Amino acid sequence: DNGKPIYKIVLIGDSSVGKSSILHQFCDNQFMEKRSPTTGIDFRFSEATLETNVAKLQIWDTAGQERYRSIAGFYYRNSHGVMIIYDITQKSSFQSIPQWIDTVSKDAPPDISKMIVGNKIDLEEYRQIESLEGNELADYMNADFEEVSAKTGENIKNIFHRMALDISKRLSTKKEE
Ligand code: GDP
Repeated sequence: DNGKPIYKIVLIGDSSVGKSSILHQFCDNQFMEKRSPTTGIDFRFSEATLETNVAKLQIWDTAGQERYRSIAGFYYRNSHGVMIIYDITQKSSFQSIPQWIDTVSKDAPPDISKMIVGNKIDLEEYRQIESLEGNELADYMNADFEEVSAKTGENIKNIFHRMALDISKRLSTKKEE
C-alpha cells in the first residue's frame, strides 16, 4: 500500500457532538456508550486505509473546547479536508458552525475539502435541527453535507469515502492547472 497518497482530515466541532465516537466507529466499527469527552490538548491520531484504494486517511480528532481552537489551527494548515460535526439534538452545536468555519478559513488551504456532518440521527425524537437547515447552511458555506450516527454506524463509512474522493478530485484538478 506504499503507493497510496496520504490525505489528512481534521474533525472539529463543539464538545460532545461525537467526534471521537465517529472516528472510533469508522476505524473499529464500534460504539461505546458514555465515553468521557475529549479533554486537554488531546489530538488523538488515527489512520485508516480506505477500501476504495484512493488513499490512506490520517484523521485528527481535535478537542472541542473554545480555548483550543487556535491550537487546532496548526493542524488545519497541513490538512486536505475538514469535517465540521454538530449534534442534531443540540441546537447550540449547529449555531457554532460558522465560527468553526471562520477558524478553519484563517489557517487552512483555500481549497480544503469541507463537509458539515450532523451526528446522532439515531435520536430522531430529540431532533432540533432539520436536515434541510443543515443542507442550506452547507450550501451557503460551500461545503458538502451529510447526517450520520456514530452509534448505529449509519453513513459513517460514506462520509469518509466521499471526502477522500473529493480530495482526490481537487488534487488532480490542481495538477492539471
Ligand atoms: P466529542 O467530545 O465530540 O469527541 O464527543 P464523544 O465522541 O465523546 O461523544 C459525546 C457523547 O455523545 C458520548 O456520551 C457518546 O456516547 C455520545 N454519542 C456520540 N455519538 C452518538 C450517536 O451517534 N448517537 C448517540 N445516541 N450518542 C452518541
